[in-house]
Amino acid sequence: MKINNKRLCLIESLVLINVLFTGLCHAQVQPPQTAVDLIISHAQILTMDKNKTLYENGVIVIQNNRIIAIGENTIASQYMAKKTINANGDIAMPGMVNLHNHIPMIAFRGLGENGVNNRLFKFFFPLEKELLSRNLIRIASRQAAIELALSGVTLVTDMYYHEDEVAKSVAEVGIRGVLGETVMQFPVVDAPKPYGGFEYAKKYIIDWKNHPLVTPAIAPHATYTVTPEWLLKSKELAEKENVPMLVHVAESAGEKKLISERINPIPENQSIIKYLEDINFLSDKLLAAHVIFLDKNDMKILKKYGVGISHNPKANSRAGTGISPAYDMYKMDLDIGLGTDGPMSSNQMDIFNVMGYAASVARLPSKDESRFTPFELVDMSTMGGARALDMESEIGSLEVGKKADIIIVDTDAANTQPNYDPYATIAFSAYPQNVTHTIVNGKIIVENGILKTINMSEHNKEWIPLTKKVAEFAKTLE
Ligand SMILES: [Zn+2]
Repeated sequence: MKINNKRLCLIESLVLINVLFTGLCHAQVQPPQTAVDLIISHAQILTMDKNKTLYENGVIVIQNNRIIAIGENTIASQYMAKKTINANGDIAMPGMVNLHNHIPMIAFRGLGENGVNNRLFKFFFPLEKELLSRNLIRIASRQAAIELALSGVTLVTDMYYHEDEVAKSVAEVGIRGVLGETVMQFPVVDAPKPYGGFEYAKKYIIDWKNHPLVTPAIAPHATYTVTPEWLLKSKELAEKENVPMLVHVAESAGEKKLISERINPIPENQSIIKYLEDINFLSDKLLAAHVIFLDKNDMKILKKYGVGISHNPKANSRAGTGISPAYDMYKMDLDIGLGTDGPMSSNQMDIFNVMGYAASVARLPSKDESRFTPFELVDMSTMGGARALDMESEIGSLEVGKKADIIIVDTDAANTQPNYDPYATIAFSAYPQNVTHTIVNGKIIVENGILKTINMSEHNKEWIPLTKKVAEFAKTLE
C-alpha cells in the first residue's frame, strides 16, 4: 500500500503522541519525591519502639525537628533531602538521656581523689565556697555540654545553682536539658538566705519555660536538707508551672538518721519513701535520684505516684554508698533510667559506661547473669530516661512524629567489631568516642566526631584560665 506524505505525517504524529503519552504515564507512575531536611540512610536502626523494631538497612527521614518516616532503606527514594548522612551500616539509635548530674562541677573534676577522708567537707564545700560564680558556672557548663554532646547524650538532667547560666550553655551547645534550680536550707552562691533558691527558681522557670531545648525545673536538694514545708512549696510550684521536680532520695544508709536529727523525726519502722508519701510530697512530677535504700512496698508506692527514678550505679559504686535494687524496679515497670551524677562523683559523663555498671551491680550480689540484658540496658538509657521525665511521647525512641534526637555509633572501630548483637555492642563494647553523629531536635550538632556548634578555641580562652585558677586554689586544700 502506498502511503502518501500526508498519511505518513499522521502516523508519525500518532507515534509521537503515543511516545509522549507513555512518557507522561511513566512520569505519573513515579511518585513525586518529597522535599525534606535530612535523611540518615543505610543505618542499622535500633528504634527502641514498643515492638523492639530493628532495621538492618534502614533510613530515617527528618523534616524540621521531627522524624516523618522510618523504615527499610528502599523508602529513601521517595524523598529528596537537603542533606543526607550515609551511615554505611553504623548503628543509629535514640540519643541517650543522662538523668542525674551537676554539670558545672566539671570545673573541679579529678580533685581530692587520693583517698581523702571526708572529701565532701575537705574539697567539695571549700571549692564551691571560694570559687563558684555565675561566670564559672556558665563556662564549666559549656565544657560539660560539649563532652555530653560528643558522647551521644542528647538530654541531660541537672541540679545546681545559677541554673539559668547552665541553661544558656546547654542551649548554646545544642543538647536538651531538664535543668533544676536548687532549693536548700543553707545559704548558697545564688541565694544568701536559706531556701533563697525558691524565689530564684520562680523567675528562672518563667524565663525559660517555652525554650525548645531547655525544660526548667525546681530541685529541692534532698530529703535531709529540705523541710517538709519547703518540699511541699516546691511541689506546688512544679504543679502550677507544670515543670519537673528533682530530688536526691534514699541515697545513703544514714539518710533516715539525718532526716530525723535535722528535719523531722521519722519513726523506726517508717521508710524514707513512706515518709515522703505521708507528707504528701510524692508526685509524677518528681524525678528521684539514687533511690538505693527501699523495699518492695516502697517500690509499689513510687509506682502508684508515677515517680521517675535515676539509677546512678557508677557514682554509687565509686562512693561505696550501696546498690540500688534497680533491676526489681525496672521489672516492676517503674519509670527508671540511668544517670552519672556530677563529674566529681562519676568523672565520665557518658552513659555507655553506666550501662556496664548497671549490669554489674545487678548481677554481682544476685549471682544472676541474666539481669539486665543488653536490650534492657539500652532501653533504660533511652526510653527509660524519657519515661522518668514524662517525655516519652516526644523523645526516647525513633518513631514517626517524635523529635529527631538521634545518634550514630561507628561499628567499624576496633572495639565495636564484630557487631553480631548491636544491643550488646552499645551496652558493653562501645566507647563514647565511637559516636560519630549527634542530632538534637533535627539539628546536626556533632558530625563525623566534630562538634559544630561551638568554636573550641574561643571556648578554651575562657575554660583554660578557669582551670588554672581552680588548680591554684586546690593546692591550698591538700
Ligand atoms: Zn547528685
